[in-house]
Parts: sequence; structure tokens; C-alpha cells
Amino acid sequence: FKSRLPSVGTTIFTTMSALAAEHEAINLGQGFPDFPCDRALIEEVNSAMLANHNQYPPMIGIKGLRDGVAQKITTLYGHAYDPDSEITITAGGTQAIMTAILACVSPGDEVIIIEPAYDSYRPSIELAGGIPIAVSLMVHRDEQGQVNSYAIPWDALTNAINKNTRLLIINTPHNPTGMVWKSSDLERLAQLLKNTNVLVMSDEVYEHMVYDGQQHHSIAGNPALASRSFLISSFGKTYHVTGWKIGYIAAPQSMMQEFRKVHQFNVFTVNTPMQYALAVYLKNEQHYLSLPHFYQAKREFFRNGLKDTDFKLSPTPASYFQCADYTGLKIPQAKSNEADFCTWLTTEVGVAAIPVSAFYKQPVESGVIRFCFAKQEQTLHTALQRLQSI
Ligand code: GLN
Repeated sequence: FKSRLPSVGTTIFTTMSALAAEHEAINLGQGFPDFPCDRALIEEVNSAMLANHNQYPPMIGIKGLRDGVAQKITTLYGHAYDPDSEITITAGGTQAIMTAILACVSPGDEVIIIEPAYDSYRPSIELAGGIPIAVSLMVHRDEQGQVNSYAIPWDALTNAINKNTRLLIINTPHNPTGMVWKSSDLERLAQLLKNTNVLVMSDEVYEHMVYDGQQHHSIAGNPALASRSFLISSFGKTYHVTGWKIGYIAAPQSMMQEFRKVHQFNVFTVNTPMQYALAVYLKNEQHYLSLPHFYQAKREFFRNGLKDTDFKLSPTPASYFQCADYTGLKIPQAKSNEADFCTWLTTEVGVAAIPVSAFYKQPVESGVIRFCFAKQEQTLHTALQRLQSI
């Protein structure tokens, strides 16, 4: 069998979740909450099903939900997408990413990604026949070698852009580092792309998890970028329902038209009752406005628990991930590569994490792993006890 993706194995998130289940480890690997979503949201799904909303919805998603998304984006970021021609409901962020790439990348086109990068970008580009061009996020460290901030690699980005560049993928807040793009960064990107035909895909699935009083800056808030960008977000992340596989994509009409050509034959459409439920639920902005406070408390709890260990914590300005450097642990495993360390941590310590090397094509071994802190306090407490005992 001639593989279309010869260098791709099983995604790290599936691999680590399976290993965690096999060894009954606490799964701080794959990003998903272990607490329930709001019962009222489930009741809305129930009502939608009982009201016979169980057949195919419109291909692009039900109007009520697209209207709600358009309204939310306008309120938060100030850009008015037309819900009928510029917004489509997708089967999660990952489907939106793949479909958008298939819709705009032709064989030989170059697509710039910034590594560490979510692991679906590269295979999606390769399936389209595109050429992934990776530039590395800049990591600033203090004298002890501890990460104190991340920065956009402007020089590398500038050098990577040429006449073959079709698309640039950005991700803010960033998985796995939690780095956020400031509005001045978006402005600088708009300037950089000004005289090019480069499109942008902005993966903003962690948009409502930004801490310390900071704001999320969406490409939707930058008119020059919005006019050339796909904007992707996820209800699964925001409403604690990652298993529902539902999100959305917004883009100017000409781009959305092409997206829908692929979407209709890719998934056709997305399950109906959840769309009705989310359409009702989205009207209450309180839920997503309260997320920063909710997750910041979990971040503090988790970071505090690791304070007196030999893990060195990277800053987490956003997202529900905490990156930690394990190379200072006074055990032989501190010298292992990240994947081996995560396997050991899962099987012997009982806590699963994700090796950050999985976010690179050529694994960069910096001794850093990613924990997800979207867990109940009791889960984090037990995981911390285990990590403290190393
Ligand atoms: N985005 C999630 C993470 O980084 C996982 C999504 C997935 O498993 N496909 O953990």
C-alpha cells in the first residue's frame, strides 16, 4: 500500500491517552476537561432531540448558531462576518483546519507554520500536496536557562515568505506554550503580508482562556488580516464538550465559498441537536466571559503544586496547558528524551503528559513536556502528589 502520509504515525494525543488508560494513569496529556459541562447545555440537547431536530441540518450549519457566532465575534472583536456567507459550523477545529487547507492549498504551494505546532497542520498540508515550511518560535530564557517568554520569529517569517507562499498558519493562544499574539503583532503581520497574496489561517480555539487580565486579540479585530484569513474556533474547548466535535470557521465570502465546496463532501454537515443547544447557550455570554477566571484558578493551583519540585515551569499566559522542563530532576530519567520521559511518567509515576517534541517535524529535544490542567481540583491534587514524589 502506497501511503500518502509515509512519515505520519498515530497522533501523540491518541497514543498518550491510550497509554494512560492502559496504566490507569491520570491523563494530563490530551487536552480535555475531566469535569462535566453545564447540565443546562445537556438539557438543551435533550430538548432539541425531543423537538425532532434529528435530521440533516443545512450544510453550512443552522442559522441560529451562525447568527450567534457572528454576533459574538462582532461584540468581542469588532468585525461583522455575514452569518450566511462567511461562517460555517464544523466538526471541531481539526476538521476546519484540514478542510480549509484542502480548499486553498494546491500541489507545490508553500505553507508556513510556526513550530512547535499542533500536529494536524503538517499532514493536512501534505495531503493537499503543499510544502510545509516550518519556522521556530523564539524562546527567551533567563540566566538559569528557564524559559521566561516566547516571541514571534519575525526575521524567519519574513525570510520564509516568497512567491510560492500560499498560506501562513498562526495559533493564538498557542498550543502548547500559551503564547498570545498582541494586537501590535497582528498589525506587524498585516504589514508583512501587505503586498503579497498570502492567506492566513488563525487557529484561535483557546480564545477564551487568556489570563492575568490580558485580552485575546483575534485576527477578526484586524481588518487587513480579516480580509485574507480563515478564523477557526471550537465550542468543545469553550463549553467543556470536546467529544461533541463541534466548532466553526469564519472567512471572507470568496474564501468561505471555496471552503464550503470541500466541507460539503468532507463531512457534509455537523450533528443537528448540538447545534440547536449551542445556539441557545451561546446567547449567554457569561459562560465564556467567566472562563479566564475559572481556568486561571486551576493554573495557579497546578503551578503552586509544582513550585517546590525540580520541574521548571514555563509561563502560561493563556490556554489550559502548562509546559515544564524536567531536566533538573535528580533522577536518571531526567536525561531521557521527551517521549521516553512521558512514557516513564505515565507508566511508573501515573501521570500522562505530552512531549513537546511531538509538535516538531524534526523533534527538538529541550526536555519540556506539556500538562493539561483542565481538571477537577481532586484530579490535579492527586497528580501533583505523584509529581511531588519523584
Ligand atoms: N488539541 C488537543 C490537544 O492539543 C487535542 C486534540 C486531539 O486530540 N485531536 O491536546
